[in-house]
Amino acid sequence: MELTFNHAFDHVKRSGIRRFTEVVKSVPGAVQLTIGEPDMDTPEAVRAAAKIALDAGDTHYPPNNGRPELLAAISKFEERRNGLRYAPDEIILTIGATEALFISLFALVNPGDEVVIPTPAFSLYESIARLCRAVPVNLPTEDNCFQIDPAALATAITPRTKAIILTSPNNPTGCVYARKTLDAIHGVLKDKPIFVICDEVYRQLVYTDDFTSFSAFADMRDRVIVVQSYSKPYAMTGWRLGYVMADRPVHDKLQVAHQYAVVSAPAFVQTACIEALKYDNSADKALFRRRRDYVYKRLTDMGLDVQEPEGAFYMFISVKKFGMDSLTFCTRMVKEGKVGLTPGVYFGCEGYMRLSYCYSDADLKEGLDRMEAFLKTL
Ligand code: PLP
Repeated sequence: MELTFNHAFDHVKRSGIRRFTEVVKSVPGAVQLTIGEPDMDTPEAVRAAAKIALDAGDTHYPPNNGRPELLAAISKFEERRNGLRYAPDEIILTIGATEALFISLFALVNPGDEVVIPTPAFSLYESIARLCRAVPVNLPTEDNCFQIDPAALATAITPRTKAIILTSPNNPTGCVYARKTLDAIHGVLKDKPIFVICDEVYRQLVYTDDFTSFSAFADMRDRVIVVQSYSKPYAMTGWRLGYVMADRPVHDKLQVAHQYAVVSAPAFVQTACIEALKYDNSADKALFRRRRDYVYKRLTDMGLDVQEPEGAFYMFISVKKFGMDSLTFCTRMVKEGKVGLTPGVYFGCEGYMRLSYCYSDADLKEGLDRMEAFLKTL
């Protein structure tokens, strides 16, 4: 008897970032600079709110999309902080941005629909698209300083294109899409029945003053979905919380997928979610900015080709001049040089490696010293 599975899984593997991190961990004494997770703990007030709620017996099913007071708090926060206008009934509290992305694509695509993914990209998008039986279409940005080239976008679009995912600030490049880029994308998309999924999980870690969200184009509100996360701005990766915002008709589809996938996010964390929105993350942001400046200087002093990131906590470094593919380069660097970075191939872009600077100053210094020593051996 042969057991068969959903063929959508045939070309989807476990995350390359996770797999390579296991390789790094297996090398004794290696410094690991692979994972994108703030190294500080969740703010005390947020943890306290969850403890109080748990002790008060807040352990029953909450409303599917989240408590009304939380959805109202998110709505106000987004308007005050980011200028986004989504009513509480246009918001769903999700199990991380991961669920938000999953239900978005699940609700939008039919088998064979195409999803345009500007690359390099967080590998989750391609995997989710495939699991939803969509066809991921890569849109390389490498030759355009990681900004989307409108002519290339126009060429990538076909009658089957259902959605495009815009990640700004970007993982893995740290790039922020310029207003000029967004205007050009808007020009290409405005008359087309294509959804724009704005993954803005790093929005509170922007080091430039001129950040614009694609959701600012009000004429496309019916086709825009904004994905947010509690993971990165409040060091809450382990809580698994995020939210999604969309115009009511879109929201109403997403909530069906959300209800049948997870019912709701947990009850007793929801007051903590309100508390997190009150947290002032400027000190954390200043810390990441300082690390960015340090890492960028060290890398450029080593003669490496890297673009200065404007957000998030990653550097995407070219290794092309060493004549090796990114997996070979990173494997050699971790085994011989004892420092682990993630191969660019796991972001759909050969010839690069990603450094995460969510690590302590001491680890960053040690990792970069080792990288410098390793490069001298080549
Ligand atoms: N989107 C991007 C661009 C990310 O980098 C990540 C995590 O690294 C996620 C989404 C997933 O975030 P969450 O922890 O909220 O599921």
